[in-house]
Amino acid sequence: MLDPGHGGEDPGAIGQKNTYEKNVVLQIAKRIYNLIQKKPYMRVYMTRNKDVFVSLKDRIIKARRKKIDIFISIHTDSAKKKFVKGASVFSISRKEANIVAEKYYSNNYHFIENIIGIKKSNDEYIDHTIFDLIQNFSINESVKFGKQILNSLEKITDLHKKNIGQAGFAVLKAPEIPSILIEIAFISNLQEEKNLNNSIYQQKVAKAIFEGIEKYYLLNKKKYNH
Ligand SMILES: [Zn+2]
Repeated sequence: MLDPGHGGEDPGAIGQKNTYEKNVVLQIAKRIYNLIQKKPYMRVYMTRNKDVFVSLKDRIIKARRKKIDIFISIHTDSAKKKFVKGASVFSISRKEANIVAEKYYSNNYHFIENIIGIKKSNDEYIDHTIFDLIQNFSINESVKFGKQILNSLEKITDLHKKNIGQAGFAVLKAPEIPSILIEIAFISNLQEEKNLNNSIYQQKVAKAIFEGIEKYYLLNKKKYNH
C-alpha cells in the first residue's frame, strides 16, 4: 500500500517556491504505483490517488481492508535551517510500539479476533503473547524493508539519516502491518524543492524505491505466500 502523505485541505509542508508536499508525494507515489503494476507477482494499492483529504485513521483502515503486506508512507521533510537536505526512512520506535501494545491490552480492543481473525483465548497471557509476536514480526520486517529502501535511495540521493529513524508517526502504528515512512527530500531546501518538481528526478526516486520494494519482496516472498 502506497500512502502519499497529506492531500486536499492539508497541503503538508510548503517549499520556498510554493511547492506543496501533497502534490509532489502524490506524483512520486503514482510513478511507484506504475512500476509495481508492471510486475505480475506484486499487487499495489494507494490510500489516495488524487488530491483529497484522507484521515490517518482511514489510511490504516484502507490498508487493513486490502490485507496488505507492506505499508509505505511517502512524505517530504521540512526544516527551519534551509541548508538541511537528504532522504530519511522511519519505522516505529520501540517506545511507541510499547505504548500501542499497552493501549490494545488495556482497552481490550479484541484486536486479535477482529484484525487477525484468531479467536481470543480469554487467557490474558496468551492473548498478549500473540499480540507481541505479531507486533514484533511487523517491526522486524519494517526495519529490514526500510534498510532495502535506504540502500536503494543512497545510490541516487543524499541521505539525511544513514540508518532507519525511529518515530511515532500515526501511520506506523498498525501493530500487524510492516510499515515505513519515507521522507524523500527536504522541500524546505531550494535545490531539493527544485528536484522534487523535476519529472526526471521523480522517476529516479520512484525507481529507487521500487527497486528496494522488489529486492525486499524477492528476499522474503516465502513469508508472504498468499
Ligand atoms: Zn508530510
